[in-house]
Amino acid sequence: MREGVCELVPSKAREKGSPLTWRPYLARFDEMKATRQLPSPTGVALEIMRLAQDESVSCGTLARVLMADPALSGKVIKYVNSALMQTGRAVHSVQEAVLRLGVGTLRRIALSFSLVSAHREGRCAAFDYHGFWSRSLALGVAAQELVRHTRYVPPDEAFTTGLLAHIGQLGLACVYPDKYAEVLRQARGGALEELLFVEQEAFAANHCELSAAMFLDWGLPAEQAAAVERYVFGEPEDAYETTRKLIRVLRVAEKCAELCVLQQANRTAVAQQLLARAELLQLQPLHLAELFEHIAREWQSWGRILEIRTYPVGPIRELVHQAQVALSTEAIAGHYGTEKSAHPNWRALVVGIDMSPSQEMADILRQAGYEVFTAVDGESALALVLENLPQFILLPLRMPKPGKSSAGNSEWGGSRWCRQLRETQVGRQLYLVMWADQPTEQEVVTAFEAGADDVISWPMSPRVLLARLRAGQRVIELQREVEREQAELRRVTAELAIANRKLQDAALTDPLTGLPNRRYAFDRLHQEWHEAMRHELQLACLMLDVDHFKRINDSHGHDMGDLVLQQMAELLRQAIRRNDVACRIGGEEFLILCPRTPLQGAAALAERIRQLAENKTWGSDRVPLRVTLSLGVAARSEKVCSPEDLFRQADQALYAAKQAGRNRVHCAG
Ligand code: GH3
Ligand code: MG
Ligand code: MG
Repeated sequence: MREGVCELVPSKAREKGSPLTWRPYLARFDEMKATRQLPSPTGVALEIMRLAQDESVSCGTLARVLMADPALSGKVIKYVNSALMQTGRAVHSVQEAVLRLGVGTLRRIALSFSLVSAHREGRCAAFDYHGFWSRSLALGVAAQELVRHTRYVPPDEAFTTGLLAHIGQLGLACVYPDKYAEVLRQARGGALEELLFVEQEAFAANHCELSAAMFLDWGLPAEQAAAVERYVFGEPEDAYETTRKLIRVLRVAEKCAELCVLQQANRTAVAQQLLARAELLQLQPLHLAELFEHIAREWQSWGRILEIRTYPVGPIRELVHQAQVALSTEAIAGHYGTEKSAHPNWRALVVGIDMSPSQEMADILRQAGYEVFTAVDGESALALVLENLPQFILLPLRMPKPGKSSAGNSEWGGSRWCRQLRETQVGRQLYLVMWADQPTEQEVVTAFEAGADDVISWPMSPRVLLARLRAGQRVIELQREVEREQAELRRVTAELAIANRKLQDAALTDPLTGLPNRRYAFDRLHQEWHEAMRHELQLACLMLDVDHFKRINDSHGHDMGDLVLQQMAELLRQAIRRNDVACRIGGEEFLILCPRTPLQGAAALAERIRQLAENKTWGSDRVPLRVTLSLGVAARSEKVCSPEDLFRQADQALYAAKQAGRNRVHCAG
């Protein structure tokens, strides 16, 4: 498979839509790669990936290479014999395992195994490495099982795409452990979109973009790279069909993965989102529930093979049902409002249930339609709060001291639990009512200081109690509204940031060819120059001009001229190496930067490009054309003292090539 930016143009060039062209974040990726800290497949896995690109390589050769890594061989055999492969007879030899798997699957397994095992931990303190792989695995397995249903792409391609869709995150954690820890803290608890936004601010690239760059770097197909690059934000109109299909799969898979790793709270909400997204793949609720349960089982089997932590996942049928009901109730409530005195979604936790007033309160709330949970003391209350996320909590002011049955002093009073609850994230959002039989002035003051929202004197009439809680409902609803507005604000800000970035991309990209433009070329030239100075590296640059280009315009029209320029860009993408940068800097003039390359190397590249152009048929089938190029080459040396000087020398060499009769390469000096 070809290397480099050319990979960004999908192989199936016949498909409708625009290709994934050059992007500024690739420059960011190059900088990260230069640190040599990025995760990458190593040793035997890398060799297998390299060999697997060669169609003529035999399974015997692959098996021999594989055997050099006993751990990897073991995993491969385990995989072949697992329920996942569903083959009949058990396999014991590496050769046979390779035969059964086929080259493509072997390559994917080698890639995932080697990455997972090398990055189970790392230096970024705030990054949960195990959680990362657990979720990534769920995403990979979900994508794989979903395409078995849709038949969009081969399942193991979908698996790799999902497993590695967020690998850029690991990249950031490896290259910038401290800065990324800060970013994670800043984005904590927010949606994925928000994390991407914060990353963008901090690194001028988000982790999905870096994943895409890493996909290309490893020689994975451009359609997959394009899908992981953008799937979080939806399905772009201008993407290739294969990319769009993969995006749909990833969007549904993401919600499946979320449900797999989510342990308690919010599952209904996520199930609702999953149900909505499943329509992208025309999945009916019942089928979805079955598929999901299958995904959860596969996730656990893969987890055992890859030694990634997974959790038991409960059946989801009930959840999907609840989600369906919730969706329809929301629709109904939206139309007619709701009649019940307390919304069925109001939940209250009554603490001190072994005291008779608490018992009484719980009954009143239940009758009024609240879902009621009860706890004996503050300690068990905290666990119940985390589990059930009630909006209300009723807490006695006077609570027995732990271990004693008599009424305690104020030191062990309810205020203490109140304060503890308020210190937790969920506890802060509760509406907290404290009660006592005729509380003293001091008790009331202490309760409010500890964070109570209301203090009541019990006994009181049920109607008054419910009225006071309704006041609490209004506070909570207001709070929710504020949160919704904040979320909306964040969404709009994120969208603006994206629009902004698209503008920035456009400002550095030539619209006709999709290559970086003149402005980018000179910025990059300066950047490479300083890099080369700092590390004593070689740097060459190559100027290229189409010979007698004006004649093409004059004889065949401007459109034909444009087509030739696009073909020129494609030729350059194919000819250069991954680290080279080809830019269109003028009408029919191109600049190629070759970092870490001596003059002779760049001259050889120039000659190769010249020959490619000379031997190619340009234009269209109806109007075949011959095109030749003149090229000038220069490299950094003692005589070249600035980036401008380097550029000038290449330009002068080009001029000399033109003077000498065109269709040739001239080197400076
Ligand atoms: P030489 O061999 O000396 O380079 O001759 P040339 O004809 O290639 O050079 P010249 O500079 O005389 O002409 C370049 C032409 O490129 C003139 C201009 O109209 C055309 N051109 C510049 N930009 C574009 C473009 O975007 N599309 C098309 N079709 N033509 C362009
Ligand atoms: Mg010119
Ligand atoms: Mg020209």
